[in-house]
Amino acid sequence: MATSTSFICSLCQEDDETNTAVTWCPECEVFLCSECQKHHGRSKMSKHHQVMSVHDYQNLPKSMLNIKNNCEDHDLRYELFCSFHDFACCIKCIKDKHDNCKGLVTLDEVVGNIKSTAFVSILQTDFFNLIENLKTIKIFFSENLSALEKQKTEAISRVHIMRRSINDHLEKLEESLLNDIRSESTNLQDTFGNLKSEIDNKTDQIEEKRRDFSKMVQFSTDL
Ligand SMILES: [Zn+2]
Ligand SMILES: [Zn+2]
Ligand SMILES: [Zn+2]
Ligand SMILES: [Zn+2]
Repeated sequence: MATSTSFICSLCQEDDETNTAVTWCPECEVFLCSECQKHHGRSKMSKHHQVMSVHDYQNLPKSMLNIKNNCEDHDLRYELFCSFHDFACCIKCIKDKHDNCKGLVTLDEVVGNIKSTAFVSILQTDFFNLIENLKTIKIFFSENLSALEKQKTEAISRVHIMRRSINDHLEKLEESLLNDIRSESTNLQDTFGNLKSEIDNKTDQIEEKRRDFSKMVQFSTDL
């Protein structure tokens, strides 16, 4: 935050002097050093201006610091407020653009209205309602956030369950396929074993017949 030493007297500055300001006049929109403040307080034009300390000026809300007393287009003091255009006007503004506007009121009237208790209480109610609405919106979002979090957890657990059931299914499928392969292979081994022993038997029988035949041939030639 800026300190009071950051402000120098606006009037002295015009004479290229840098004196530390002690007060701010919102009417003249100038910072004043203690010397200039004395003159400002005595001068006929400005003795009724309500000045504030630089410290208080620094504590003003930013929105209030931006409020100007003079029209930026014509550098003349704002005199009237056009309620149709929602616009503060200097004399030239009125002449140029708001001459035919209805509902021109003096700024004193506007300020008077703002200060009226009815207006203040309407504004306070508006602020209260605004804060209540924001609270409702916040609750709505935080409830939705927790619902979203719950949905996320449920979706993740559904994926895990699905994954486990796919795993179970694949394991059972694998086991059943391996069992089929094993039993098929055992059957084939049995069949081949049987065929082999049948062939062995036949071979033995044929061998015996061959031996018998050789003997017969031998006997018949000996005769
Ligand atoms: Zn000064
Ligand atoms: Zn002043
Ligand atoms: Zn103007
Ligand atoms: Zn207007």
